[in-house]
Formats: sequence, C-alpha cells, structure tokens
Amino acid sequence: MSCFEIIDPIFGTYVLGNAPVKQLATGFDWVEGPVWFGDADCLLFSDIPNNRIMRWTPGAGISTYREPSNYANGQTRDLRGRLITCEHGARRVTRTEHDGSITVIADRFDGKPLNSPNDVIVKSDGTIWFSDPHYGIMTNYEGYAADQENPCVVYRYTPDTHALEVMVSDMNCPNGLAFSPDESLLYVADTGRMFSDDAQHLRVYDCAADGALSGGRHFHTIDPGASDGFRIDTDGNLWSSAADGVHCIAPDGHLMGKVLVPELVSNICFGGRAKHELYITATTSLYRITLNRQGIQRP
Ligand code: MG
Repeated sequence: MSCFEIIDPIFGTYVLGNAPVKQLATGFDWVEGPVWFGDADCLLFSDIPNNRIMRWTPGAGISTYREPSNYANGQTRDLRGRLITCEHGARRVTRTEHDGSITVIADRFDGKPLNSPNDVIVKSDGTIWFSDPHYGIMTNYEGYAADQENPCVVYRYTPDTHALEVMVSDMNCPNGLAFSPDESLLYVADTGRMFSDDAQHLRVYDCAADGALSGGRHFHTIDPGASDGFRIDTDGNLWSSAADGVHCIAPDGHLMGKVLVPELVSNICFGGRAKHELYITATTSLYRITLNRQGIQRP
C-alpha cells in the first residue's frame, strides 16, 4: 500500500516511491516537539504526559535526554544552536546553554504567569517567537491544572533587550507557527479552545522587516484533524500535521498531497544530512520518511 496520496501531480516529484514511512520508536503516550541536531546526529522530542524529553540517535536508538522535563512541548534551536524549549509545567520558555545549564527566557507577561508555551521558532534576527495557548493548564495530563491569567497569544522575545511583546492576539488558541523562506510571511495555526468547537485553521500574516505583523488572512483548513505543528520547505511549501498523516500545502494554500501515517500526527521537523528527512511525532510513536525536498531548519 502506498504511503502517499498525490492530489497535485507536482507532489509526485516531492516524494520517493520506494521510501517508507518508518516507525523509529514507539511506546510513548503523546509526542511532540521534534528538533534535529545535525552536529550531534540526533533528534530530540517531547513525550509530554511522561514528563520527559527523548533522544533518538541513528544506530543507538532511544534514550532519555531530560527527565523531568517540566512537561516540555515544542522545541527549536537558536542561531547559536542552543536548544529552546516550551515547558507546560513551569509555564515558561527556556534555553539550554552549551554547558547544559538552563536559562529562563520568559515565564511572565504583564506581571502574570504565561499559560503553557506550546511551540517556538527563531527568526534570522535571533528573536524567539512562541505560542501560549492554555492546553497545558486545562488538565493535569500535560502539565498542572491552573487558572488562565493571560490571553492565548503569540509572543516575540528579543534577546538583546529581553523585551517580550504580544504579536498575535486575534486567535482562539495559537499553536504551531513558521516563517516563509524569506520571512515575509508568518503562518500560525489556530487549534481552538479545549472543550469548545472554535474554528481550527491556518492563517498567514504579512511580516515587515522589523517583525511587525499585519493581515492574518485564512490560509488553509486541515481536514481531517488540525494543524498542530508544521514546517516549511525551501520552496515555501508547508508540511503540516493532520489526523491521517502529514499534508503538504502549496504557498497559494491548496493541498498538494499527503504522507499517510498510521497514527494521528502532532508535529514534524526536517533533519538528516541534507534536511531531506521528515521526522514525524505521531501520538505514541516517532516516524521518519525521506523526501525529495529540503526543509528550512536553523541553524
Ligand atoms: Mg503544538
């Protein structure tokens, strides 16, 4: 059985007919936050309910990277290659320094605790952008149940000034986010409030050179499922999580094709020596497929 669904014929050139969707590891409860470390030849990802960050290494397989992880979720790296982590449990975003020590980047806004930082990206100017929906404080499953004190928004943190600013405030629950290749666009997924039927869709904002956002038009609605996390390839195509796998969305918003995955997908990232491998966190398992595409992944 093919592991692809080709909708736009161009998608047929993006995939490799004999490349499998390979399960690399399983037995987790809910995995997210994959981040590739080419210099260490490994992938880190979060097993959120089990309060740990896992490491997968080709050849060596699975080991535990950090436990407890403060119910870590989304992760990325900054321009100096340091790990940036969203923590539901501590309601903060942290940076892991090269010596292993942990620096708190943000844990409060307007004098009140953040909700539960979910997903994070770094712009080429070094600023750190993260979403702060309430999912990690709604129950005790992926963090600690607590009252929400700040709205669900997207923040920008500027390392030079330590300024923390609200950049997106017109969504129910912002979740995954990514810049277009030239950073003139910011894509943000709205996955809606827990226990409600809010609209779930991807929106796109125009991003000025100084990072100021405008617009916020509807870009695409993932079906089935929702766009929890996504990444962009070098041509600006968006590869998004969905209930039936990974959907590839063209820059004009149309669905080009799918990589079918046996479990509901949460997040993805590109990795491998040419950033041509798609690492997929999907419910209880980590999967990988090799593509005829290259992802944008810093550093
Ligand atoms: Mg997420």
